[in-house]
Amino acid sequence: MPTYHNAGGGYPNVSAPARQAKLDGNQNHHTIPSNVTSHPLIQNNTQQQQQQQQQQHSVPSNLIASSIPSHPVSPTMTMHSSVTTSNITTHMNTTSSPMILTSNTINPGATTALPANPRHEVKLNAMPWFHGKISRETAERLLRPREDGLFLVRESTNFPGDYTLCVCYQGRVQHYRVKYKNNQLTIDDEEFFENLALLVEHYEQDADGLCTQLTKSLPKQGKQDFCVDPKAFVEAGWVIQTHELELRECIGKGEFGDVLLGVYRGERVAVKMLKDNSEAAQRFLAEASLMTSLIHDNLVKLLGLVFNNQHMYLVTEYMSKGSLVDYLRSRGRLHVSKKDQINFAYDTCAGMAYLESRHVVHRDLAARNVLVAEDNSAKVSDFGLARDENFSLDGGKLPIKWTAPEALKQNFSNKSDMWSFGILLWEIYSFGRVPYPRIPLADVVKCVEKGYKMEPPDGCPAEVYDIMKQAWDLQPEKRPSFHDIKVTLGQLRAEYTKVVN
Ligand code: AMP
Repeated sequence: MPTYHNAGGGYPNVSAPARQAKLDGNQNHHTIPSNVTSHPLIQNNTQQQQQQQQQQHSVPSNLIASSIPSHPVSPTMTMHSSVTTSNITTHMNTTSSPMILTSNTINPGATTALPANPRHEVKLNAMPWFHGKISRETAERLLRPREDGLFLVRESTNFPGDYTLCVCYQGRVQHYRVKYKNNQLTIDDEEFFENLALLVEHYEQDADGLCTQLTKSLPKQGKQDFCVDPKAFVEAGWVIQTHELELRECIGKGEFGDVLLGVYRGERVAVKMLKDNSEAAQRFLAEASLMTSLIHDNLVKLLGLVFNNQHMYLVTEYMSKGSLVDYLRSRGRLHVSKKDQINFAYDTCAGMAYLESRHVVHRDLAARNVLVAEDNSAKVSDFGLARDENFSLDGGKLPIKWTAPEALKQNFSNKSDMWSFGILLWEIYSFGRVPYPRIPLADVVKCVEKGYKMEPPDGCPAEVYDIMKQAWDLQPEKRPSFHDIKVTLGQLRAEYTKVVN
C-alpha cells in the first residue's frame, strides 16, 4: 500500500492535464480569464461535520494491524474547492507488483457486483489549523493574542516535507519540528502518528512533553485543508484485495489515467487506474471518498478500491454502453427513440435530484459524464469535481458551453448544475451535437450573458424545450430545482410510455 504525504502547501486546481485533454477533445472550453476567477471564501459545511461525528466505522478484523502499513497522509483537499496539487509527494513503491491478468467466468448480465462486507462512508478530515507554507515569522504574527495552548501547524521551512507545530506558551511561540520517521509522524521519537490530524488530536488531550497542551487552534483564513487517509477506506470496508480483481482491456481515458474493464467476483467492473502521479493521489481518494457517501440508482456506484505497492485502482460498476454522448452520436436518430431520450433525461435528473438533496454540486454535468448501462439506464458519473455545495473552484479550465454564467465567476450551486442540465437535455435531443453549434467558442459567454438561448433541436418536445429555457434563466434563483424537474419529466415519461404501449 503506497504512502501519500504532502510536502507542500495547497491550492486548488481544476485543470488537471487529463481533464483538460478530455475537454480539449471537445474544443469547447478555454481558460477563464483571471479577473473572473477570484471568489469569496466560504466556510465549512457544518452538516457534513455533524454527519462525520455520527459516523461509526467498523474495522474488519482481517484488515487491521499487519495488513495496513502506516500512512502519513497529506493535508491536501481544500475546504472550498477541488484538491490541492501543489507539492504533494506520493511515495509509491516502485518495485513492480504484477497485476493478475487471467480469464474467469463473467456474469454478462450483471452490472453491479456488490461486496458482501458492510461498508461505511469515508469522510475527509478537516484540518483548519493547517496553514501550509508560511514562515516562522508569519506564524508568530498570526498567533495572537498569545494565549497558552493557541496553536497552528505549518510546513517546515528548514526541513522540506516535515511540519512545524507552533504553540503559544507564556507569551512566546514554541516551534516543534514534526518529522517523518518510518512513514509516521513524530515530535519526540516516542509517540508516532499516521497523520497530522491524529497528532494534533493527541496533543489536544495531553501535553505529553510539550510546553503545554494544545487548547485552541488558530483556523486558517480562506481555503483550508483536508486529509484523506487511504487507511480510512480499509477501515470502512471499501478495500478490494489485488488478487480479487482481474484487469482486462482499456475502455476509456479519464482524468486520472486509463479506465479498464475488470472482473470482480465474477462480474464485469470498470477500473480507474491512478497514474503514478503524486498530484492526483489525493484527488483520486477525494473522488472515492465522495462516492462512498453517494448511493443512488442513477449515480455510478463505487464498488471499492485496490491499493498495492504501485497503484491505486477505483473499482466501479461497469456501464457497458459507455458515455451518453458517444451513445447518442453512434446510434443517432435511427436508433435512439423518443422513449430512450426521455428515459435518459429522467434518469440523469433523478441522479442530480439526489445530489441536490445531499447538497452536493456536480459542477461538470454534461452528456460526456453520464454513462449508459446494459439495460439503457443512465447514471451520472465523474465525481472528480463534485463537491459539497460550499466548495468552489479557483480557476483553471472550465467547460464554457456547459457552465452557467455565474459559475464561470466561481458561483457554483445546484442551480448552476441545473443550467448544465439544460445543456445536457439539448445534447440528448440533438443526438449528441456540440452545443452552440454556430457560435465561436470565444463569443459564447458574451452571447449567453446578453440572454441568447439555443433553439430547440429538431423534434424536441415543447415541454422539454420549456425546461431548457427555465434552466437557462440568467438569474440562478429563478431556475427550477432538480426535484421539480424530476416530477415534470416523470409525467412526460409516463405519457411516452402510454403512447408507445
Ligand atoms: P472518466 O474518467 O469517468 O471521465 O471516464 C473516461 C471514460 O472511460 C468514459 O468516457 C467512459 O468511456 C469510460 N468509463 C468510465 N467509467 C466507466 C464505467 N463505469 N463503465 C464503462 N465505461 C466507463
